[in-house]
Amino acid sequence: MKRCSTALLAGALTVGVMLPAAPANAAPPATSVIAVGSSNSKALFSNAGGYVASYKRFSQQYVLKNIKTNRTGVLQESRNGKWITLQKLTWKKQAGKTGSTAATVRTTHTAATVKKKYRLVVNASGKEARWESKHVTLRHENPRSYKGYKRTVYNQVKKYCPNVIILEEDRLRSYTYSTSLRMNVARRPAGNLLKYAALHECAHIREFSLYPPSQQGTLRAKLNKIYKTTGTGGIEQAADCMAFRMGVNSKLIFGTYTKNCAGARGTAAAKLLAGKKL
Ligand SMILES: [Zn+2]
Repeated sequence: MKRCSTALLAGALTVGVMLPAAPANAAPPATSVIAVGSSNSKALFSNAGGYVASYKRFSQQYVLKNIKTNRTGVLQESRNGKWITLQKLTWKKQAGKTGSTAATVRTTHTAATVKKKYRLVVNASGKEARWESKHVTLRHENPRSYKGYKRTVYNQVKKYCPNVIILEEDRLRSYTYSTSLRMNVARRPAGNLLKYAALHECAHIREFSLYPPSQQGTLRAKLNKIYKTTGTGGIEQAADCMAFRMGVNSKLIFGTYTKNCAGARGTAAAKLLAGKKL
């Protein structure tokens, strides 16, 4: 490429050299559908991880980008091969912003263990085309019908986490998803260590139910201040203190994040367990 000095370029501009610009008839950017706070931006109910616990309605927020006018749409469920509208939705164009207002979509709730298929539709407008999400199938599960190891775990947590998804974990550690609210519990012989693992994860379910994904940074900061920790330290130590309040005997177990639940640490755990924000 030919070298071009700044002075030369400036001179060229003043005499009106055309620079490439978007032609007037270029197609406008297509409307895109974005899930708020999700890495899988278009997938419907991506944060659910495939499961919804009985009696719960899983919710997720979606915004539209680059809309020309306000848009409407529906969340639908497939029943006997027909799409039934569960919710009517509206996205409003916001002046000076590429994103619309957010619409919250929610699954149905059921007591049954059953699979349900959903889709999200953005209706066509005078200027824009219809958009339809990929169909997604979620498994609604009632833990009361669990058998075997999942039943053993459920029996430990049912008083505090009556509607919860439990999965058996192959790895050594147990964990809970902060978005989908399901607990993966590692195999342990029935006893105090299993009770601790199950109730510690149940404590996370209660923490994350109280503070949805968009507020979990706040929860982390508040607990780190109280427990004098960093990262996820406060969330973990509070889950331990909650587990002790739910009946785990700290003297009979090892491998905890903390056993110190005195003063403000215990007060915070009690508050979270009572379903109150800090
Ligand atoms: Zn934990």
